[in-house]
Amino acid sequence: MPPGFQQDNAMTEATFAPRVFSGIKPSGGLTLGNYLGAIKRFVEMQGGDFETIFCVVDLHAITVWQDPEELKRATREVAAGYLASGIDPEKSILFNQSRVSAHAELGWLFNCVARVGWMNRMTQFKEKAGKNAEKQSLGLYAYPSLMAADILAYHATHVPVGDDQKQHVELTRDIAAKFNHDYGVDFFPLTTPVIEGPAMRVMNLRDGTKKMSKSGESDMERINMTDDADTIAKKFKKARTDPAPLPESLDGLKDRPEAKNLVDIYAGLSGMSAEQVIAEHGGAGWGQFKPALADLAVEKLAPISSEMARLMDDPAEIDRIMARGAERARAIADPIVSKTSELMGLLR
Ligand code: ATP
Ligand code: MG
Repeated sequence: MPPGFQQDNAMTEATFAPRVFSGIKPSGGLTLGNYLGAIKRFVEMQGGDFETIFCVVDLHAITVWQDPEELKRATREVAAGYLASGIDPEKSILFNQSRVSAHAELGWLFNCVARVGWMNRMTQFKEKAGKNAEKQSLGLYAYPSLMAADILAYHATHVPVGDDQKQHVELTRDIAAKFNHDYGVDFFPLTTPVIEGPAMRVMNLRDGTKKMSKSGESDMERINMTDDADTIAKKFKKARTDPAPLPESLDGLKDRPEAKNLVDIYAGLSGMSAEQVIAEHGGAGWGQFKPALADLAVEKLAPISSEMARLMDDPAEIDRIMARGAERARAIADPIVSKTSELMGLLR
């Protein structure tokens, strides 16, 4: 086990090989939040002691209506984002979820393990459904159960995610524990969420109390991984802030969500801690700090977005990579889902 990644399976006797699973929904273009909270960290975990499995979770995207042609394009674009950022299909398994039927199958089995009361506590559903909960798809409500299946179909021990997904990984643990208890087995691991680093919750550029999201309403509230240099500079320039300059110490960011967000983004992009950013830029006004941040974002994102564009010129190659990844994924997931069915008493 690599240092810092303790396996937390006190409730199970079984040992599980260190394996990472994580996914991103093709529900729109990738954002800086997806990059700093997810993809950049996936790349860092690749090639170490973990087997790494990364997925484009298209079955989650369709929990809200997607234009079919646009969904295909967005699925390939998320795959291109993974590849351009450094996910190597030789070192990691990369595929889109719907190609591996084990996800949907185990998702159903887990719908019969998870409790309605658990789903009712999920804050993401409340945020996404708003006042219109009755009109949402049943899939959006049951989404965390499918996410548990995504993770547990591979007996994944660790899931790197942004802070917003913590509750869903905790629910995954609840499902694993209840399954193990109800069937008297030590079959599923209690997966550890890995939520580390300065930019685990990148906030909306227009409202520092809301998360930056692909599916957010306005393009000005997020940085897309495919934005060009001028657009990135413009979006940071227009990002909401308070009038005070950057504080001289971290404490000074308390109750300044927009300022804190820009410091965290700078830290995430540069590999510095927020403290180091403040040590370097404390006292700077926004007229100084915002252009420095924009330059840094362009420096980091431009090579990735040009590689994404190159990859998107050859969609057949992306499809070939995902089809091969799906084959490798099935080889792991199918026996686990078969065993789950057998444990539940389903004749195969
Ligand atoms: P949507 O608005 O459709 O939910 P999203 O931008 O939230 O899209 P997801 O596909 O739901 O993206 O999440 C993919 C991964 O990116 C998850 O690990 C999630 O925690 C992470 N992530 C999403 N938004 C942020 C953010 N603002 N900051 C840090 N991590 C994020
Ligand atoms: Mg999301």
